[in-house]
Amino acid sequence: MLSFTEAVHDGYGQTFRIDRLVHYEKTELQELVIFDNASFGRVLALDGLVQLTERDHHAYHEMIAHVPVLGHGAVRDVLVIGGGDGGVLREVLRHEDVRATLVEIDARVIGTARTHLPFVCGDAFDDPRAEIVIGDGLAFVRDTDRRFDVIVVDSTDPVGPAAALFGEAFYHDCKRCLRPGGVLVTQAGVPFFQGPQIAAAHALRAGLFAHATAYLAAVPTYTGGPIALGFASDADLAPGDLALLRERFRAARLETRYYAPDVHVGAFALPPEVRSLLHGA
Ligand code: SAM
Repeated sequence: MLSFTEAVHDGYGQTFRIDRLVHYEKTELQELVIFDNASFGRVLALDGLVQLTERDHHAYHEMIAHVPVLGHGAVRDVLVIGGGDGGVLREVLRHEDVRATLVEIDARVIGTARTHLPFVCGDAFDDPRAEIVIGDGLAFVRDTDRRFDVIVVDSTDPVGPAAALFGEAFYHDCKRCLRPGGVLVTQAGVPFFQGPQIAAAHALRAGLFAHATAYLAAVPTYTGGPIALGFASDADLAPGDLALLRERFRAARLETRYYAPDVHVGAFALPPEVRSLLHGA
């Protein structure tokens, strides 16, 4: 029996049975595996770490996309850093007035997502409102003159090419690329296991933005409890006004499975042990 064990935390891992190996490849940058599992459906892993599964990716993609877009309320341009599976791109493009630029360092992630993960990306890569850039997100925000209303950092964990996406220079350049009142959202990690990483990256964002916090989403295969998503802006947009969010959600005519305006507001309620990672004891 073939199996896949993700051993990201010291002395602990989660194991999936591989019912069918769909794709295996060593790209120039990382090991890319796609397999099918009875409980989670299709699974994408990069360098031994689970990136998404068919069963629970909607929770992550809806929360990382709709919270900043609806929280902001007048988004025209979104920048997605990473996110080569197309899930964030698809969710942000559900908003009719939004254009999106996706900067992914590994073209093979996009290529295999198109072939093997259509339930994640849909037609998003071919949407005329989408621009796809193959390159390093760090260099893109350093060099571009363009400005965005929302930046979503949908990166792998801070090892290899993603390490710099948790650093001060990157956050500084993200802030420069945001229009006034713009929002930066980041995949921050699971507080139960990755507290020091979350605290360090949050401290950098808090040093740059007038308002910095995090919100939580339950994504079962990001094992160890809820995942934290960093949220930073010079505007005071968290947690948001429930009545206003309801109005925006209705106007956007979104069909969602995890996101709802009251979930949006509630996601910013942090248990004291998570709050203390961000704001001290
Ligand atoms: N939601 C997933 C998670 O939290 O595990 C992340 C999904 S997405 C597949 C992550 C993507 O970030 C990968 O495809 C990887 O190639 C890309 N990536 C890593 N470092 C990058 C960088 N410096 N610039 C742009 N993309 C990067």
